[in-house]
Amino acid sequence: MRRIAVMTVALQIALLFSAARAVPNKAPKEAPKETPKETPKETPKETNDESTRSALVKIAGEGLLESHSFEYLTQLSDDIGARVTASPQNQKAVEWGLAKMRAIGLENVHPEKFQLWRGWTRGTAEADLLDPVHRHLRVDAMGWTGSTAPAGSEGEVVTANVFNLDEEMKNPQRFSGKVILMVTEGEPKKDVMLIFAQFGDFVKLAGKSGAIAIFGGQGGFKSEGMNLTHTGILGFDTDFPLPVLSLTEEDQSQLERFVAAGKKIRVRVNVQNTFSIGPVDTANVVGEIRGREHPDEILVVGAHLDSWDLSEGATDNGMGTVCVLGAAEAILRSGQRPRRTIRFVLFNGEEEGLDGSYAYVKQHQAEMANHLGDLVLDEGQGPVKEFELGGRDDLVPAFQTFADSLSNIRAVKVNDKASFDTDTGPFISAGLPGINMNQDSPDYRYTHHSAADALEAVKPDILAQDTTLMAMTAYWIADRPERFAKPWPAKKTAAMLRQQHQYEFLKAFGLWPFGDLGADSKDQSRNANNQPNTDN
Ligand SMILES: [Zn+2]
Repeated sequence: MRRIAVMTVALQIALLFSAARAVPNKAPKEAPKETPKETPKETPKETNDESTRSALVKIAGEGLLESHSFEYLTQLSDDIGARVTASPQNQKAVEWGLAKMRAIGLENVHPEKFQLWRGWTRGTAEADLLDPVHRHLRVDAMGWTGSTAPAGSEGEVVTANVFNLDEEMKNPQRFSGKVILMVTEGEPKKDVMLIFAQFGDFVKLAGKSGAIAIFGGQGGFKSEGMNLTHTGILGFDTDFPLPVLSLTEEDQSQLERFVAAGKKIRVRVNVQNTFSIGPVDTANVVGEIRGREHPDEILVVGAHLDSWDLSEGATDNGMGTVCVLGAAEAILRSGQRPRRTIRFVLFNGEEEGLDGSYAYVKQHQAEMANHLGDLVLDEGQGPVKEFELGGRDDLVPAFQTFADSLSNIRAVKVNDKASFDTDTGPFISAGLPGINMNQDSPDYRYTHHSAADALEAVKPDILAQDTTLMAMTAYWIADRPERFAKPWPAKKTAAMLRQQHQYEFLKAFGLWPFGDLGADSKDQSRNANNQPNTDN
């Protein structure tokens, strides 16, 4: 997710509407006990007790000077490569993750199985422009979408406006026997995440109406250049019999020019993918550093192990995967044991709808009250730029002081944004701080779910820094003398999510568990309905 998977559509959408991007950075509502008044440079020693501080110094040394993260990422990229959830390569990645955790020295290393509603295997995708000129088009199928007739199909191209799907869905008969080119005309009439949700309905309707295929990426939006396709899922745990194809920006732009010139466009498409008959097995990979004082209190540190399959998934999310392993290793090699347990989790099935983290929260329901939150890295290949605390504004002041103490490594901001783009979401819904380590990754627009998502996109020094920041943050949270966070009651979480404009989006995807809770709080989300909101 980011980006949704939505995680990930949001990236394209965020870039599309980058001018409109607004990250909430709320002032703390209450003055916390631990907020010092000094400037950051003078405060580090006051942020932690002395033993935590000296542990962090050792962990930083291990993380920066002895990092194996890039070595691990090279292995994951070259020895395993693409690892679509529940595929044989994905299972190989699970075995690799378990072996790595054991070799590093984590305790209680084990897989935690869960099921994906359906498996999917990419076959072939071909498209040829027949009129007004004859040439090959560069396409790849979107994940969990279907196939054309075995020999392919020919049809005329008609456009549909992503920004006005309400109108497009009124007259679906016009799509019968046609290939639909998704375009953006005018201004979006609703929040882009709601467009993302509605695009799924559009695809289903177009399929029922006899369309041959759709050219459109996640949310129906256009690819980012250069000559790259971007695959991805089109909803949470949703599959579509109709083939949906990501077309390169360059090819799409040419088709748009033909449309503008009033030329008739004919294409031939042949797409062959396969679905499993029923649900398929997969697993999260789990290992721990047990706490020395409160082992039953747990911080989850995670990233997703699954990837897409147009390349190696080095940036999404091999990067996060090896940050988790490298962070565990830095803490273990420092010889320090935190007061509370750090549980390292390589989530699976993130790209299909945060399936692994939802499964984790469900499987650990009985001990969620003992959780401190989760800490996730999944925003591409760039340096960490901010900690998004998952709606927990109560934690911002203390966290800011900690973040300030990292300034010799990197300036990292703190805000209380709730992100459902990645495996933070299920923890946020559980009332816990799902902390997203947001990154400055301008090139992610190209590597995201594309053929460019390879090891070459990752810089070893940035990876070592991000690993170290993850290790230090995890240790700081788990080693605080006082417990870092307890779950909020559902009503408070619901009100926070409404205030952060997440209600409509979560509701549209069937992920809103709170009913009417929080509705009596000032619901600002309706105001967001008419403007692009890229907070997701
Ligand atoms: Zn990801």
